[in-house]
Amino acid sequence: MPLQLIRDRRTLIKALAAGALFAPVAACSENPATGRRQFVIVSDEALAGMAAQTWAEIQRSTPVSDDAALQARLRRVGARVAERSGLTGLDWEFVAFDSADINAFVLPGGKVGFFRGLIDFAQDDGEIAAVMGHEIGHVAARHAAERVSQQLAVQAGVQAAAMALSENLGEFADDAAAALGAGLTYGVILPYSRRHELEADRLGVGYMEAASYAPVHALAFWRRMIADSEARAQPLAWLSTHPAPDDRLEALEALAG
Ligand SMILES: [Zn+2]
Repeated sequence: MPLQLIRDRRTLIKALAAGALFAPVAACSENPATGRRQFVIVSDEALAGMAAQTWAEIQRSTPVSDDAALQARLRRVGARVAERSGLTGLDWEFVAFDSADINAFVLPGGKVGFFRGLIDFAQDDGEIAAVMGHEIGHVAARHAAERVSQQLAVQAGVQAAAMALSENLGEFADDAAAALGAGLTYGVILPYSRRHELEADRLGVGYMEAASYAPVHALAFWRRMIADSEARAQPLAWLSTHPAPDDRLEALEALAG
């Protein structure tokens, strides 16, 4: 989904040319939320700019729910969990989209989208808070920056990127656009690695708990998600790409049980 969303390549190329995209000095630094060292060569500003553009495109292409009560509910839970995550400097937005998909996503900079299908699937605010915590966990752990950086490094090579930045963007612009597109969106259906998903689960449980939602809601939600997916003739896409269900539930049980 996000790849097609980045239609305006010129904006990206301008950002690249201005040197806004890369922050090579801070290539490897420790993330305070996870305590883990990360390889990051993309600046927060550049990611936030791309995310804002992607967010605007999603809102143009997917109807925003006109259910005011639903929007208010999502904003209330989202603001409460985001505040307790400590990421108070971000311009958080929580928007419900009118789609039956059981899905949610987050963009760097604090843009969180929930599809109506997931809100309906959740049994209570605690389960919404569990997904919210997970999505906010991806932001805190800077998974998008890490993913985009890894993809840029793999696809183009850091040196090629630096050369491309200096004058000749050439084909690299496409690689960079693809890497950004694939790396920007996180959610139930577009996951990162097993490690990132489990990390987001762990952070998310901490945030929801800090916001006074019982962690057991996270366990209940994922149990039902997994059972629901496994019961379908065509399993939901996220099941094949997320951590093995047993591993995930075991980790959540350790946190929330
Ligand atoms: Zn996730």
